[in-house]
Amino acid sequence: MEAIATANTSRFFSTLFLFPKSLKAISEKLQPASLPTLLDNQQSHRDTSRAVEVKEGKIVSIVKEEEQNGKTKLENVIDYGEAVVMPGLVDVHAHLDDPGRAEWEGFPSGTQAAAAGGITTLVDMPLNSDPSTISRETLQLKIKAAESRIYVDVGFWGGLVPENAFNASALEDLLNAGVLGLKSFMCPSGINDFPMTNASHIKEGLSVLAKYRRPLLVHAEKQLDLESDLGVEGGSNDARSYLTYLKTRPASWEEAAIRDLLTLTKDTRIGAPAEGAHLHIVHLSDSSNSLDLIKDAKSGGDSVTVETCPHYLAFSAEEIRDGDTRFKCSPPIRDAANKEKLWEALLAGHVDMLSSDHSPTLPELKLLDDGDFLRAWGGISSLQFVLPVTWSYGQKYGVTLEQLALWWSERPARLAGQELKGAIAIGNHADMVVWDPDVEFDLDDDPVYLKHSGISAYMGTKLSGKVSATFVRGNLVFKEGKHAPAACGGISRTTPKPSPANPPSILKPKSQFQWLLQVILVLSPSIIIPIVLTIAARGHLLRWGASG
Ligand SMILES: [Zn+2]
Repeated sequence: MEAIATANTSRFFSTLFLFPKSLKAISEKLQPASLPTLLDNQQSHRDTSRAVEVKEGKIVSIVKEEEQNGKTKLENVIDYGEAVVMPGLVDVHAHLDDPGRAEWEGFPSGTQAAAAGGITTLVDMPLNSDPSTISRETLQLKIKAAESRIYVDVGFWGGLVPENAFNASALEDLLNAGVLGLKSFMCPSGINDFPMTNASHIKEGLSVLAKYRRPLLVHAEKQLDLESDLGVEGGSNDARSYLTYLKTRPASWEEAAIRDLLTLTKDTRIGAPAEGAHLHIVHLSDSSNSLDLIKDAKSGGDSVTVETCPHYLAFSAEEIRDGDTRFKCSPPIRDAANKEKLWEALLAGHVDMLSSDHSPTLPELKLLDDGDFLRAWGGISSLQFVLPVTWSYGQKYGVTLEQLALWWSERPARLAGQELKGAIAIGNHADMVVWDPDVEFDLDDDPVYLKHSGISAYMGTKLSGKVSATFVRGNLVFKEGKHAPAACGGISRTTPKPSPANPPSILKPKSQFQWLLQVILVLSPSIIIPIVLTIAARGHLLRWGASG
């Protein structure tokens, strides 16, 4: 079964995967020279047949159906019928809480849930584990906890905290040890050993990151005095009321933090002192003033990107019932009008990408019985569901498969410095998800691999878009409710680039337009981004889409 297998993981295939009738193969490797014709008009190829050939974990060719006929022998091909094959999702924002708080999630259950949801790479946040990832030593503890226990590839962000912010050699040591970039908070994080940073800390961090051409991810909320009592309307401060919680974290907090951050990102422009650094704003909720500030900064040449999360696109404050603390997160889910504007921004390209911000805890810390929004742990548990959630809630807005691949694979892979991930392209890692957009399923009827599924805000709902198989570097790590018997995920690293002689990374745009352009060029030099693969019984039907 050489077609999709790697040398060291064939055991997974023999154990898990039997393809008695539909199994065929491409035994003759086609030359990449046959591909340029595909570039003439990408749209016109969307319904053309294609197949992907994988060897030793990488994509070695992408074959048109007509080229197979007579030119290739068919054997060892996995037939996925009418299913969609897309680049695996790259989730740049997940908290797996391991080591130290593995009872909250942990690497095994978290990465099994990721695999079942079509995520092939995730980047673990430096906090909520114990200790936090803020030094070479603590990163090594993370790596040790992850090794041989992960079902998808996992990379790590390091923490920028007051303790290391003014210590350039400590930050360089952390970057050299393998973190993909840094993360900091502009408000208390909720974790005592991960204190918030101020503008001075962030400025120092950016100056080190500039040398490495790696990003700084920032939680952008800044505590301001609240304008009045929490319960201004109706005179209630009922802690079970979602509106009470919402008033404690107004959009003005996001705006204030972003305004501060964008005074610093001017330094990331071409020729400025922190050229080479990049600032990424995590989980934007405010789609009004905050977003306008980010748009202005991008057009001014700041190296800035922004993500939002499926829960801000799926839910609105009006729908959250009193006491249902599964929906508590920060920044909070805002009203329906805000949600509509967030979708508009995503579709217009002002929001660059999506992430889960999967942030679980113990059910007792969610206070589901009390329903106290002010004391409950804040964090939405979602890792396994982000693909069907984005697809299902995106139907109303005409979301396409190409947009899903852009938001969930291409751009996140670039942010995380994963040059060989994020697209189905020759030479890339064979990270793919096979799923059926039309299959509806009830989350309560399907296996959920999260450690505490009951705290997820999505339970009890019905979604469309069911994952049937997930490949990580050619390894079939998940298929129809079963995981590979051994955890074969790897640690994702980037090669540090401290030398100014190295060419600029993709994170160095002059403007948002350039950033997007560079993403496409670096990711897929020939702009070949096959999105949809359908292998019918009689042959190979790969519908072909272009990167947005
Ligand atoms: Zn987070």
